[in-house]
Amino acid sequence: MSTSTDPEAYLLAECPVCDYALQGLPVEHLCPECGLAFDRRWWVYGGPGVSREWSRSARAFQIVTAIACVIVICLFLIKQLPMSAILVGVSMVILAAVGLAYLFSTYRPRRFIALGPAALVVFHGPKRIEHFPWSTISHPRADMHHKCVVFESAGKTIRVKGYDFFGGVIYDVERCARGITQYTRDLESYPA
Ligand SMILES: [Zn+2]
Repeated sequence: MSTSTDPEAYLLAECPVCDYALQGLPVEHLCPECGLAFDRRWWVYGGPGVSREWSRSARAFQIVTAIACVIVICLFLIKQLPMSAILVGVSMVILAAVGLAYLFSTYRPRRFIALGPAALVVFHGPKRIEHFPWSTISHPRADMHHKCVVFESAGKTIRVKGYDFFGGVIYDVERCARGITQYTRDLESYPA
Protein backbone atom coordinates (compact mmCIF):
# COMPACT_ATOMS: atom_id res chain seq x y z
CA MET A 1 0.00 0.00 0.00
CA SER A 2 1.41 3.36 -0.97
CA THR A 3 0.11 6.73 0.15
CA SER A 4 -0.54 7.85 -3.38
CA THR A 5 -1.04 11.51 -4.19
CA ASP A 6 -2.49 10.55 -7.54
CA PRO A 7 -6.07 11.88 -7.43
CA GLU A 8 -7.17 9.01 -9.67
CA ALA A 9 -6.52 6.64 -6.76
CA TYR A 10 -9.46 8.10 -4.83
CA LEU A 11 -11.87 8.33 -7.71
CA LEU A 12 -14.37 5.86 -9.12
CA ALA A 13 -12.53 3.73 -11.69
CA GLU A 14 -15.50 2.06 -13.39
CA CYS A 15 -19.04 3.03 -14.28
CA PRO A 16 -21.32 1.30 -11.71
CA VAL A 17 -23.87 0.59 -14.47
CA CYS A 18 -21.80 -0.70 -17.39
CA ASP A 19 -18.23 -1.13 -16.04
CA TYR A 20 -16.83 1.37 -18.56
CA ALA A 21 -13.34 2.50 -17.44
CA LEU A 22 -13.58 6.07 -16.18
CA GLN A 23 -9.86 6.79 -15.67
CA GLY A 24 -8.85 10.16 -17.06
CA LEU A 25 -12.42 11.44 -17.35
CA PRO A 26 -13.58 14.57 -15.46
CA VAL A 27 -14.89 14.09 -11.92
CA GLU A 28 -18.46 14.92 -12.96
CA HIS A 29 -19.30 13.66 -16.39
CA LEU A 30 -21.58 11.45 -18.48
CA CYS A 31 -20.56 7.85 -19.05
CA PRO A 32 -19.55 7.59 -22.73
CA GLU A 33 -21.00 4.08 -22.84
CA CYS A 34 -24.36 4.23 -21.03
CA GLY A 35 -24.92 7.96 -20.45
CA LEU A 36 -25.05 7.80 -16.63
CA ALA A 37 -24.39 11.19 -15.02
CA PHE A 38 -21.74 10.12 -12.53
CA ASP A 39 -19.55 11.81 -9.95
CA ARG A 40 -16.24 9.99 -9.58
CA ARG A 41 -16.15 10.93 -5.88
CA TRP A 42 -19.10 8.57 -5.31
CA TRP A 43 -18.87 5.76 -2.82
CA VAL A 44 -20.88 3.02 -4.50
CA TYR A 45 -22.76 0.31 -2.59
CA GLY A 46 -24.63 -2.60 -4.13
CA GLY A 47 -25.08 -3.02 -7.87
CA PRO A 48 -23.16 -5.51 -10.02
CA GLY A 49 -20.10 -5.25 -7.77
CA VAL A 50 -21.69 -6.83 -4.68
CA SER A 51 -19.40 -9.20 -2.85
CA ARG A 52 -21.50 -12.32 -3.22
CA GLU A 53 -19.26 -15.28 -2.70
CA TRP A 54 -20.06 -18.87 -1.92
CA SER A 55 -17.78 -20.85 0.25
CA ARG A 56 -15.72 -23.50 -1.54
CA SER A 57 -17.35 -26.30 0.45
CA ALA A 58 -20.86 -25.09 -0.49
CA ARG A 59 -19.82 -24.92 -4.15
CA ALA A 60 -18.19 -28.38 -4.00
CA PHE A 61 -21.33 -29.83 -2.37
CA GLN A 62 -23.43 -28.35 -5.20
CA ILE A 63 -21.19 -29.86 -7.88
CA VAL A 64 -21.04 -33.32 -6.27
CA THR A 65 -24.83 -33.37 -5.75
CA ALA A 66 -25.46 -32.31 -9.36
CA ILE A 67 -23.09 -35.00 -10.71
CA ALA A 68 -24.72 -37.70 -8.53
CA CYS A 69 -28.18 -36.71 -9.79
CA VAL A 70 -27.02 -36.73 -13.43
CA ILE A 71 -25.50 -40.22 -12.94
CA VAL A 72 -28.76 -41.58 -11.48
CA ILE A 73 -30.79 -40.08 -14.33
CA CYS A 74 -28.35 -41.43 -16.97
CA LEU A 75 -28.38 -44.92 -15.44
CA PHE A 76 -32.16 -44.85 -15.57
CA LEU A 77 -32.17 -43.67 -19.19
CA ILE A 78 -29.83 -46.49 -20.28
CA LYS A 79 -32.08 -48.89 -18.33
CA GLN A 80 -29.56 -49.87 -15.70
CA LEU A 81 -31.97 -48.87 -12.91
CA PRO A 82 -35.31 -50.26 -14.11
CA MET A 83 -37.28 -49.99 -10.84
CA SER A 84 -36.17 -46.58 -9.67
CA ALA A 85 -38.61 -44.08 -11.15
CA ILE A 86 -39.05 -42.43 -7.72
CA LEU A 87 -35.29 -42.15 -7.31
CA VAL A 88 -35.07 -40.51 -10.74
CA GLY A 89 -37.90 -38.13 -9.87
CA VAL A 90 -36.14 -37.14 -6.64
CA SER A 91 -32.85 -36.73 -8.55
CA MET A 92 -34.52 -34.41 -11.06
CA VAL A 93 -35.99 -32.28 -8.27
CA ILE A 94 -32.60 -32.08 -6.51
CA LEU A 95 -30.87 -31.24 -9.81
CA ALA A 96 -33.38 -28.44 -10.44
CA ALA A 97 -32.84 -27.12 -6.89
CA VAL A 98 -29.05 -27.16 -7.31
CA GLY A 99 -29.42 -25.38 -10.66
CA LEU A 100 -31.63 -22.69 -9.13
CA ALA A 101 -29.21 -22.26 -6.22
CA TYR A 102 -26.42 -21.78 -8.75
CA LEU A 103 -28.39 -19.16 -10.69
CA PHE A 104 -29.24 -17.40 -7.41
CA SER A 105 -25.59 -17.39 -6.38
CA THR A 106 -24.53 -15.76 -9.65
CA TYR A 107 -27.29 -13.12 -9.56
CA ARG A 108 -25.93 -9.58 -9.56
CA PRO A 109 -28.33 -6.72 -8.80
CA ARG A 110 -28.33 -3.73 -11.17
CA ARG A 111 -29.51 -1.19 -8.62
CA PHE A 112 -27.06 0.65 -6.45
CA ILE A 113 -26.63 3.47 -3.93
CA ALA A 114 -23.99 6.14 -4.45
CA LEU A 115 -22.84 8.55 -1.75
CA GLY A 116 -21.52 11.74 -3.32
CA PRO A 117 -20.59 15.22 -2.11
CA ALA A 118 -23.90 16.65 -3.31
CA ALA A 119 -26.38 13.94 -2.44
CA LEU A 120 -27.16 10.33 -1.72
CA VAL A 121 -28.15 8.82 -5.06
CA VAL A 122 -30.47 5.82 -5.31
CA PHE A 123 -30.19 4.27 -8.77
CA HIS A 124 -33.22 2.09 -9.58
CA GLY A 125 -32.57 2.15 -13.34
CA PRO A 126 -31.64 4.67 -16.04
CA LYS A 127 -35.15 6.14 -15.90
CA ARG A 128 -35.46 6.31 -12.13
CA ILE A 129 -32.62 7.92 -10.24
CA GLU A 130 -33.43 9.56 -6.90
CA HIS A 131 -31.23 12.26 -5.35
CA PHE A 132 -31.49 12.93 -1.61
CA PRO A 133 -29.52 16.05 -0.57
CA TRP A 134 -27.43 15.35 2.53
CA SER A 135 -29.04 18.21 4.44
CA THR A 136 -32.36 16.31 4.34
CA ILE A 137 -30.97 12.96 5.53
CA SER A 138 -31.06 11.63 9.07
CA HIS A 139 -31.20 8.38 11.05
CA PRO A 140 -29.47 6.04 8.60
CA ARG A 141 -29.51 2.44 9.81
CA ALA A 142 -29.54 -1.16 8.66
CA ASP A 143 -32.82 -3.01 9.30
CA MET A 144 -31.51 -6.53 9.67
CA HIS A 145 -34.97 -8.00 10.12
CA HIS A 146 -36.22 -6.76 6.73
CA LYS A 147 -32.73 -6.79 5.19
CA CYS A 148 -32.85 -3.19 4.05
CA VAL A 149 -31.07 0.13 4.47
CA VAL A 150 -33.36 2.74 6.04
CA PHE A 151 -32.98 6.49 6.37
CA GLU A 152 -35.18 9.53 6.84
CA SER A 153 -35.29 12.27 4.23
CA ALA A 154 -37.43 15.39 4.66
CA GLY A 155 -39.79 13.57 7.01
CA LYS A 156 -40.16 10.51 4.77
CA THR A 157 -38.79 7.08 5.60
CA ILE A 158 -36.83 5.67 2.67
CA ARG A 159 -36.22 1.92 2.54
CA VAL A 160 -33.66 0.46 0.18
CA LYS A 161 -34.37 -3.24 -0.23
CA GLY A 162 -31.48 -5.59 0.37
CA TYR A 163 -32.29 -8.05 -2.40
CA ASP A 164 -32.85 -5.44 -5.12
CA PHE A 165 -29.66 -3.54 -4.36
CA PHE A 166 -27.31 -5.95 -2.62
CA GLY A 167 -28.55 -9.35 -3.80
CA GLY A 168 -29.55 -10.03 -0.21
CA VAL A 169 -25.94 -9.93 1.01
CA ILE A 170 -26.42 -8.82 4.61
CA TYR A 171 -22.83 -7.70 4.92
CA ASP A 172 -23.33 -5.15 2.13
CA VAL A 173 -26.56 -3.86 3.72
CA GLU A 174 -24.63 -3.17 6.92
CA ARG A 175 -21.68 -1.68 5.06
CA CYS A 176 -23.95 0.73 3.16
CA ALA A 177 -25.73 1.87 6.35
CA ARG A 178 -22.33 2.44 7.99
CA GLY A 179 -21.17 4.39 4.92
CA ILE A 180 -24.19 6.70 5.08
CA THR A 181 -23.67 7.23 8.82
CA GLN A 182 -19.99 8.04 8.27
CA TYR A 183 -20.77 10.39 5.38
CA THR A 184 -23.35 12.33 7.42
CA ARG A 185 -20.87 12.58 10.34
CA ASP A 186 -18.06 13.79 8.04
CA LEU A 187 -20.37 16.45 6.59
CA GLU A 188 -21.28 17.61 10.10
CA SER A 189 -17.61 17.94 11.08
CA TYR A 190 -16.62 19.71 7.86
CA PRO A 191 -19.56 21.94 6.97
CA ALA A 192 -19.51 23.20 3.41
ZN1 LIG B 1 -21.76 3.45 -17.95
